[in-house]
Amino acid sequence: MEHCDKLFSSRILALLDVINDNELGLWELTDTISLDEKAGKIMGLDEAKRLTLKELLKLVHEGDRKELENALTRVMEVPGTIGNIECRIMDKKNKQYNWIRLMGKSYLNQGKPVVLGTSQLVEGKALEFLNARINDITRELSRKDELYQCMFEVTETLLNADDSIFEEYFQSCLEIIGRTVGLARVYIYKNHMVDGTSCCTETHEWTEAVEATLGEEFTMDMPLNSWPGLEEVLDEGKNYNKLVKDTPGEIQAMIPRGIGAVLYAPIFLKDFLWGFVGYERIEERAFDTDEDSILGSVSLLLANSLIRYDLNKNLYLAVDKINTTTIKAEVLEKFAYTDALTGLYNRRHFMELSQNVLEKSKRFNTPCYTMILDLDFFKKVNDTYGHLAGDEVLKNAAIVMKNTLRSYDLLARYGGEEFVVLVSETTKADVLHLAERLRESIAATPCVHNCIKIVCTASIGLAASFPDCTMESLIDKADKGLYKAKESGRNQIILYED
Ligand code: GH3
Ligand code: MG
Ligand code: MG
Repeated sequence: MEHCDKLFSSRILALLDVINDNELGLWELTDTISLDEKAGKIMGLDEAKRLTLKELLKLVHEGDRKELENALTRVMEVPGTIGNIECRIMDKKNKQYNWIRLMGKSYLNQGKPVVLGTSQLVEGKALEFLNARINDITRELSRKDELYQCMFEVTETLLNADDSIFEEYFQSCLEIIGRTVGLARVYIYKNHMVDGTSCCTETHEWTEAVEATLGEEFTMDMPLNSWPGLEEVLDEGKNYNKLVKDTPGEIQAMIPRGIGAVLYAPIFLKDFLWGFVGYERIEERAFDTDEDSILGSVSLLLANSLIRYDLNKNLYLAVDKINTTTIKAEVLEKFAYTDALTGLYNRRHFMELSQNVLEKSKRFNTPCYTMILDLDFFKKVNDTYGHLAGDEVLKNAAIVMKNTLRSYDLLARYGGEEFVVLVSETTKADVLHLAERLRESIAATPCVHNCIKIVCTASIGLAASFPDCTMESLIDKADKGLYKAKESGRNQIILYED
C-alpha cells in the first residue's frame, strides 16, 4: 500500500483502527487497484493483491459490472467525489458471488488521481436479493396465471353461449376480461363500408371507472383513417399497443379521459379486417409481452364467436324474410313451375297449360302442333367441355328458342337436353317454317363458354293434333318424328304422320 503510506496522516491511521474493527477492507486505485489483506479476503482473493481494473471487473457480476465501472470513472474524474456502491463479486474459493459494499473517495497525488476506499461484506444482502427476485418471479407467475385464467373463463363462457343467450354471455366475457386484467374499458369495434370508406362502429362495451360512452358522434360510423396509423398496424395483423401519451392527438381524442394505456387487437374474417377489440387501462403502464399475446388470443376467441353469431343472425333474418308469406308464396310458386337451369316452364307445368290449349283446339277444330326438340350429340359436349359448359349450352338453346318463338307459343324444358313446344292457331306450312327457323337459329348461334365457341345442332320431331288426342299421345307421335330425324342424320325436322 505504497500510496497509502505516503498519504495517510496519523489521523487517517487512527481511522484505520475503526476500519479494522468494522471488518472493513482497504483498497486504493491508481492505474491498478491494490487491496490490503482484509479487502483481499472480503473479495475472496485470500491475500493482499494488486489487480488491474480489468481483472477486478472480471470478478464482478455481469449485472453490476457497468455500474461499478461508471462509478469508479466518475470518482476518478473529479477529485473529492465520493462513490458508494453495492455489487456482487465472485468468491473464487466458493465459486459464488458475495454482495460487497465499496466506498471510495478520490484525491490528487502528485497531479494524479487516486481513489482510496473501503470494502465490506453486506450481510444478508444475497438473501434479500434472492427474496426480492422470488417475489418478482411469484408476482410475474401469478400475473400470468391470472391472464390464463381469464382466457379459460372466456373460452368456457363462449362455449356455453348458444345463440339465444349469446349477447348476455358475450357481455359477461368482456366483464371477466376487464376485471381479471384490471382494465377500465373493453369493447368491440366493427368495420363496414360507408360511401366507399372503411368505417367502424362500437357494438359492445364493458366499462368501469371511466365515462362509458363518448357520445354517438364517436361511436358511430367513424372512418378508420381518422385514427392515424391504427389501420396500418391492425391490417398487418399486429396489436396497436401504446401509452396514450404516445398516440397521435386524433386517437387521444377518441379515448376517454383518465386512460393511461391502450391495446387494440385486430379481428379478421378471412383477409378482411372485420374490426378490433379495444383494451384500455388507467395506469400509465404499457401492456407487457404476456398481456399483449394473451389478450391477442382472447380477441381471437371473442372474434370467432361474434362472427359466428353475426353470420347465424343474418341467416335467421334471411330465413325470416323467406318465411314472410308473400315472398314465400312467390318463391315457392316460381320453384313449382319453372326449370331452375333455363328458367323455362318445367314439364309438369307444360302438361297443365297444354291441356287448355288442346281442349280449345279440339273445340274450334283447328289443329295444334307439338315439337320435341333434342340437342344432337349433347353427351359429347359434356364429355369434351365439361358439365358446366353443357349447362351453358342448354341455357343458350333456351334463349335462342324463346327469342324465335311467339309469346303465345308454349315452350318448356321437357327433360335433359329435350325441349317441347306447343304451337296453336297455325297452319302446317307455318309450323314447318317455324321449326326450320328454330333449327337454323340453334345451329347458327354457338354458345361461348370460357372464350370457346361451342356449336350445337338440334333434331326436331313434329306432330299435329287429331280428334280425341291427348297431350301424351301427341307428344308420343312427335317423339317418333324425332327418332326418325336422329336416324336420318340429325340437325333436321321430321313431321310424323300415320
Ligand atoms: P343424340 O344426338 O342421340 O341425342 O345424342 P346425345 O348425346 O345428345 O344424347 P344422349 O341421350 O346420349 O345424352 C344426353 C346427355 O345429356 C346425357 C346427360 O348427361 C346430358 N344432360 C342431361 N341433362 C343435363 C343437364 O342439365 N346439364 C348437362 N350439362 N347435361 C345434361
Ligand atoms: Mg335426349
Ligand atoms: Mg340428344
